[in-house]
Amino acid sequence: MEFYSELGFHYLPVKKTDISGHLSDLVLPKHDNVVPEKRAGVDTVDHVQNSGDALKCLREEIGDCSRCKLSEGRKNIVFGEGSPDAELMFIGEGPGRDEDIQARPFVGDAGKLLTKLIVKLGLKREDVYIANIVKCRPPNNRNPENDEIGICRQFVEKQIEIIRPKVIICLGRVAANALLRVVTPISKMRGVFSEYASIPVMPTFHPAYLLRNPKDKWLTWEDMQKVMEKLSV
Ligand code: URA
Repeated sequence: MEFYSELGFHYLPVKKTDISGHLSDLVLPKHDNVVPEKRAGVDTVDHVQNSGDALKCLREEIGDCSRCKLSEGRKNIVFGEGSPDAELMFIGEGPGRDEDIQARPFVGDAGKLLTKLIVKLGLKREDVYIANIVKCRPPNNRNPENDEIGICRQFVEKQIEIIRPKVIICLGRVAANALLRVVTPISKMRGVFSEYASIPVMPTFHPAYLLRNPKDKWLTWEDMQKVMEKLSV
């Protein structure tokens, strides 16, 4: 692995058949919180080919999860969706009612606003990757609790590691606080880049907040300009 790592390979599509007789599983390296930069040339092609498989493998690893109490009330695990090679990744806090039913992130009213925002950026939902900190709906849409975040965060961290986006946008306080391991109001964090594993992270308002407070939409739009500038370099 060290040899391959020096060559710039971060995932080896090793079939578990090779090791344990299990088909269509890929072996992921241990997460070390260091996400390498996107690279040009043949290495990027290799990444494009492998990141989709690595995400499928991660979904299989999650399985029919019962690692925390959120599993008791959920209908579906909402893994995340979008391009495995996205340059831009959105992270929310956790699925709501519509997401739980459809097993897709951000498909309710807040999701519709997020989709509009993505389109306004000149992108499509399929161009970006959308995930949540916790993969199961908290009861009555309450905020995910620390123990739930603590158990589930490994999966969004692995998604980031696989996708290696150029920029991450955290939607709302819960997502921003969880990813960046801080306890700070979103009003103090938004509009300023932080870093997660050397990736710029822009915290901004959650679209559900913007539905309740449309007067603040322009602030999110300002945050998006900074993101687009970062993506263009
Ligand atoms: N809110 C979130 O944080 N995530 C979703 O997927 C939907 C609503």
